[in-house]
Amino acid sequence: MNETAIPITVALGDGVGPEIMQACLRILEAGGARLAPELIELGEAVWRQGHSSGMTPEGWESLRRTGVFYKAPVTTPQGGGVKSINVTVRKSLGLFANVRPCAAYAPFVPTRHPGMDLVIIRENEEDLYAGIEHRHTQDVVQCLKLVSRPGCERIARYAFEFARSQGRKRITCMTKDNIMKLTDGLFRQVFEEVGQDYPDIAQDHMIIDIGAARVADNPEAFDVILAPNLYGDIISDIAAQVAGSVGLAPSANIGARCAMFEAVHGSAPDIAGQDIANPSGLLLAGLMMLNHVGQGAAAARIHNAWLCALEDGLGTPDMARGRTAVGAQAFTDGVIDRLGRAPQRLKPAQARPTPTAPISNHAPAPRVEKTTVGVDLFIDWRGDVETLAARLKALEQRPLELRMITNRGVKVWPEGLPETFCVDHWRCRFMNGGSPIPLRDIAALTLRAADAGLDFIKTENLCAFDGAPGFSLGQGQ
Ligand code: NAD
Repeated sequence: MNETAIPITVALGDGVGPEIMQACLRILEAGGARLAPELIELGEAVWRQGHSSGMTPEGWESLRRTGVFYKAPVTTPQGGGVKSINVTVRKSLGLFANVRPCAAYAPFVPTRHPGMDLVIIRENEEDLYAGIEHRHTQDVVQCLKLVSRPGCERIARYAFEFARSQGRKRITCMTKDNIMKLTDGLFRQVFEEVGQDYPDIAQDHMIIDIGAARVADNPEAFDVILAPNLYGDIISDIAAQVAGSVGLAPSANIGARCAMFEAVHGSAPDIAGQDIANPSGLLLAGLMMLNHVGQGAAAARIHNAWLCALEDGLGTPDMARGRTAVGAQAFTDGVIDRLGRAPQRLKPAQARPTPTAPISNHAPAPRVEKTTVGVDLFIDWRGDVETLAARLKALEQRPLELRMITNRGVKVWPEGLPETFCVDHWRCRFMNGGSPIPLRDIAALTLRAADAGLDFIKTENLCAFDGAPGFSLGQGQ
């Protein structure tokens, strides 16, 4: 270690983790990376010691101090009480951006899409992954999809900064805002607002279903894709698969003060200890880490040596497909032997520092005027809708009036269709024609419902923001 070495936290992981991590550290060091690795315990052994997060207090301390985590895959034990390390680290340390490059290395790694070279940037903290789920009734469970303006803003800004720093030309945002107008609509709207600060980057939007189909069919057409958490999760796996190289795919999780770099694959216990595991995914993640800590020249040098190894036909058994397979250690030596060389056919890598922190130069959005204009009362009811409506009408008290009942989002009162299939979960909307109502009136309504023996599960207040409804209107309104 020399004086300028940057401390990083390293976890060897489980299964093939220790062998591929040691191989990668060997290559990074030979390639001129200036790193001071601090080894921490992680994974199976730590869970067995009773740390439900899979990480020891010393591990957390190191990680919070270095702010850079180079992590080999870990085996997630089956069974209750065990939390996924990735989810815990991501959430605890605010790693809001998942960056997944997916490139083809044709003809040296077989793929149907030789020109593919895209990066997926996935929002990592919000959306359906907040993990807030409830069972409401016999029939119905719910998962809350939370999307925030600051969350959208920092991922959108990170995506634009990333694209600019990497010389990328276009960002395609993918959402389902034709259906989820408020949540996905906000994600798209903020993408377009932030995009105004980046006129040098081309920008477009696709509905996620057609976007995912296009990624599967014609990934060459994409440059950077930005997506909310769930869609980003799915589309990253599609892209890695069609690149022909799930085993080669790296991943970075970036936060304001901390970042984590790892391979996309798991701990592969079936091949552990056999010297056949491919270190490439973890190595490419290590190169993202070097770019992140400002050592882009070393990253490019190592990347080029790795590309030369591919061109020379070197590969672990999973990559070989018709070529001579070598063991993981021999592959590692082969990469080191080629340091200083440039690839002849594959595109050479360049030093390109990545943005390290979310850059926000937007002033906070001006406060909007919020007014409460009604309430949706959710009721567990196993009878017919007309009887329910009559019992709810009996609860009316000025200014609140029963306006609508829906079942799984379909209007069933007034003027529902007998064909609509109903479950035991009813959304009953009370409003005052769009005028403000006091919160006390909502509380009083729930009291009357309880006194009338109606089993309400929850209420959702209906609010307007600067006069615009902040709630879906429901069918028939
Ligand atoms: P896996 O990715 O470990 O293995 C899937 C297949 O790919 C196996 O046949 C394996 O031999 C092969 N493979 C994986 N990595 C390889 C490599 N570097 N070189 C050659 N072949 C490789 O997925 P899995 O079997 O579903 O999961 C095993 C364990 O890993 C589970 O406990 C899972 O929870 C965990 N996991 C961890 C992470 C992580 O730490 N980020 C990610 C995914 C899975």
